[in-house]
Amino acid sequence: MINVIGGGLAGSEAALQIAKRKMRVNLYEMRPVKFTEAHKTDLFAELVCSNSLGSMEPKNARGLLKEEALSLGSIILRIALKNAVPAGKALAVDREKFSEEVTALITKNPYINVIRKEVKKIPEGITIIATGPLTSPSLLEALKEMLNADNLYFYDAISPIVMAESLDMDKLFFAGRYGKGNDYLNAPMNEAEYIRFYNALITAEQHVPHSFDRKHFFEACMPIEEIAKRGKDALRFGPLRPVGFDKKYYAVVQLRKENNEGSLYELVGFQTALRYGEQKRVFRLIPGLEKASFVRFGSIHKNAYVKASSLLKRTLQLRENPCIFIAGQLSGVEGYVESISTGLLAGINAALLANGKTPISLPCDTMLGALINFITDNPLTLPQPMRANFGLVPEAFLKMQKSIRKEKFIQASRNSIHNIKQMI
Ligand SMILES: Cc1cc2nc3c(=O)[nH]c(=O)nc-3n(C[C@H](O)[C@H](O)[C@H](O)COP(=O)(O)OP(=O)(O)OC[C@H]3O[C@@H](n4cnc5c(N)ncnc54)[C@H](O)[C@@H]3O)c2cc1C
Repeated sequence: MINVIGGGLAGSEAALQIAKRKMRVNLYEMRPVKFTEAHKTDLFAELVCSNSLGSMEPKNARGLLKEEALSLGSIILRIALKNAVPAGKALAVDREKFSEEVTALITKNPYINVIRKEVKKIPEGITIIATGPLTSPSLLEALKEMLNADNLYFYDAISPIVMAESLDMDKLFFAGRYGKGNDYLNAPMNEAEYIRFYNALITAEQHVPHSFDRKHFFEACMPIEEIAKRGKDALRFGPLRPVGFDKKYYAVVQLRKENNEGSLYELVGFQTALRYGEQKRVFRLIPGLEKASFVRFGSIHKNAYVKASSLLKRTLQLRENPCIFIAGQLSGVEGYVESISTGLLAGINAALLANGKTPISLPCDTMLGALINFITDNPLTLPQPMRANFGLVPEAFLKMQKSIRKEKFIQASRNSIHNIKQMI
């Protein structure tokens, strides 16, 4: 018997994968006995916010991730496709019909034993933990004990990440404050540029937060627009302070490397609750970022996730206890499709392990492999959840000409996924 904790996107996919391999599963879900702050129903695979699973185009990173997951047999994505509503090139679903179909498939499956209760202690035996960003507090306590509190994060104030190649390097310079190192990329502003940016920032439209998110606001996670609203110069004494550089700069935005290859940069201190479209509009007013390509937007919400680089193998097993897998948002990925895809891999691997076989990891020339490689090999001491994006692909692809890079990667991904299918 394999245990899966959490009947969200990742847990539902994992349980169905195990059952597909004719192995028995205990699927623990605490709803409706206890609800998270975002879930509203007792259905499996409930979408807590948007009904869109993003692009279907392979040239879009999440599109390619979907293609890979579908090719590896994702059941949840197949149900999403069946319940699609028109949304251009994106996959959006009728959320109720989608979750109802997943629920029906799970509850009538003879291999899946649904247990509606809050898990407070990790069960014995092969177990997938997929309790998501809003994992219940009692289970978080148990995880803290098992994994060490330093490896667990509970709050997520995310700054946007941009692709390095989309930046205008003529307007930016590498330097650390006070001449210390060369690690940061800096976007200096003159007074007129700062005022234009400031005015746009304080009047931009905000995402309406869940009430529990608002409750959890605290100083270290203060959104940049809230700091700005404290006064015209608040940012110049905060994240945009020009100190430690040439005195001619009125304000300086700093960007920090997000990966070793330097293909991705995070805007330092730009955690924000602005709507995604507004982030694009306002942050592109920063000199050098006029054409910035955003691989992840900023956000502020309550989110539990582990430090995968300390804890997880690329098979999604705990390094210290290979019987335990972590999947979904709790593993350190971000997004619906990313959660489904890690649930898929954890389900396949738990079944392999139960059959005495070796769990698989995906090569980095697949989008899922590159994403898992990133979270398990992240050099940052304070990692933040990551979405699928082309900035994560191996250096060999990043060095290729932009016009052919994606095509080459898509081809490599299709070859690798074809080979992996023979192994599962
Ligand atoms: C408010 C909010 C909005 C989001 N909006 C989007 C969005 O629009 N688009 C996007 O791509 N991503 C979004 N995300 C991020 C992420 O993609 C989703 O949270 C996604 O549902 C994560 O999938 P999961 O399977 O990891 O967790 P979930 O889908 O949350 O599933 C976890 C399940 O575990 C259950 N559970 C928790 N603790 C226990 C326990 N102790 N015992 C038993 N069961 C338990 C929960 O009830 C839940 O059913 C959002 C996240 C949040 C918090």
